[in-house]
Amino acid sequence: MTHKDLAFDDLQRLWSQIRIEEDGCYTWAGETADEKPVFRLGGKNRLVRDLMFEGAVKSYNRQVIVVKSSCKNELCVCPEHLHQRTTSEAMSEVAQGRNRALNEDIVRWVRERYVKGKVEATALCRMVEKEFGTKVTRSAMSLVVLRKSWKDVV
Ligand SMILES: [Zn+2]
Repeated sequence: MTHKDLAFDDLQRLWSQIRIEEDGCYTWAGETADEKPVFRLGGKNRLVRDLMFEGAVKSYNRQVIVVKSSCKNELCVCPEHLHQRTTSEAMSEVAQGRNRALNEDIVRWVRERYVKGKVEATALCRMVEKEFGTKVTRSAMSLVVLRKSWKDVV
């Protein structure tokens, strides 16, 4: 089943939880499980990336392939930003770090400085670039400070 096979109600429910960003990412604003976007369907959690990706490509082998995003947005479900990875490729990526731009130190650093309504994500992006020399997208930064990504980092 792909997102194209969903009933209209489910499709509406799916898209109501997707926020389309200026940088082209489709940021998932719904439920996550194990930091992955999930969608409740027929009493089961389905991975949103699978639903989106399966609808965009013809051949899809669930046994050996996982779907990863190529952008820095951990919650992106945009089919154009998704690609197939073999399980071992994906595991080595995880071992190298979940995100090219972010790491636990940066995540803690920005959360210490984030003040709702005062220090916003855009300002934090500039501060991180100055302090660590690394570029983080505004959407990725929002997810960090709202604790929608990197949930395991205290
Ligand atoms: Zn993206």
